[in-house]
Amino acid sequence: MSELNSEYDFHIAGASFAGSMLARQLAQKNKKVLIFDFAEPGYRLKCAGGIEMRAFRESGLKVPFVKCSKAVMSVDGQLYEKGIDYAVVDRRELDRASFDAAIQCGAKFAKARYLSHSHSGKTLKILSEGETRELKYRSLILANGFSRAGRNMFISPYSIATNEIIEGESPYPESLLFVFESGEMNGYYWIFPMPGGRLNVGAGAVTHLKDIKEKLLRFKKKHSLTGKIIEKGGGVIPLFPSIFPDSNGAVHFGNSAGMVQPITGEGLKYICRHAPAFAGIISEGRGGVNSYWLSSKCFWKLFMASIILRICFCGGNSGMRIYNLLAKTSMNLLNWRRI
Ligand SMILES: Cc1cc2nc3c(=O)[nH]c(=O)nc-3n(C[C@H](O)[C@H](O)[C@H](O)COP(=O)(O)OP(=O)(O)OC[C@H]3O[C@@H](n4cnc5c(N)ncnc54)[C@H](O)[C@@H]3O)c2cc1C
Repeated sequence: MSELNSEYDFHIAGASFAGSMLARQLAQKNKKVLIFDFAEPGYRLKCAGGIEMRAFRESGLKVPFVKCSKAVMSVDGQLYEKGIDYAVVDRRELDRASFDAAIQCGAKFAKARYLSHSHSGKTLKILSEGETRELKYRSLILANGFSRAGRNMFISPYSIATNEIIEGESPYPESLLFVFESGEMNGYYWIFPMPGGRLNVGAGAVTHLKDIKEKLLRFKKKHSLTGKIIEKGGGVIPLFPSIFPDSNGAVHFGNSAGMVQPITGEGLKYICRHAPAFAGIISEGRGGVNSYWLSSKCFWKLFMASIILRICFCGGNSGMRIYNLLAKTSMNLLNWRRI
């Protein structure tokens, strides 16, 4: 309760990967930072934990990982492979390590739920221990993820994914396996090898959301993935990047700014890459976040990918066929090997 006050340079809503990465960067610049979240960091399995090796190393976080040197893509039964350099971590451990690093650098943490803020009054409404409170803030960062509540699927498209950590060995060791099937669902499946003889296995879709759990069950059966379930998770993936992450008196970062690659679901890499730049800009009080973001290669990559996905997924299963055709064409162009 005592940490919850107005005496900070930065109030950050959301203590998951994005919030804690930014908090660490700001605390390292001697800024007074409060991160608040309604839940304990690392409490929930939110993703498959695949992260580009370079970004993972640059994050400086020490958590167990499996090195993956191949991506294997199955498109309508046709297999392709490509050399990559990725790590697979337990996402809960990554969040916890990032959070601990922020606290070690001097950031403070409080359990509270962000409710709203007023740009003009620079006030923040939060819910803490059952009470609504109002705080003054100097700078507010919203790293509170993405919620599909109240979203219109066409204007703000999103994907939904479910995943599990199970015991077992991957049929494709040291590889990230992605499976795309036309006609079955508007989506994809994956199997990632994890440290400790475990697998992260999941299914994601843009439509037909209701039966996604059954699809995952069927996928596991098909691949004889019968190991004990250790943890279940999943979440919503925004399929469009924010055009103005600094808007209405707050800077949005991570999922809250749509910083996720809609085609592969990658977000951790972008958070690692852009946390130092976002922290650098906002710590100097310059209003350059939007121009930095709009002139970044990352924004345009995510923007173009989101347009392609929108076009494909408007068409239901025919859209999935177009998507798979595009995937095959680009894999041929990008020198994926057929296996
Ligand atoms: C199934 C699945 C698999 C994925 N696989 C990968 C992958 O392999 N690699 C990859 O790079 N990306 C992957 N992603 C995307 C990745 O999960 C996101 O990019 C990443 O979680 C974004 O982190 P974040 O901190 O912005 O948001 P989140 O992880 O969603 O964290 C938001 C935080 O804000 C808190 N919060 C929410 N509302 C409030 C509130 N009102 N007040 C206070 N706190 C609040 C939440 O408790 C949470 O701690 C996957 C996503 C899914 C769903």
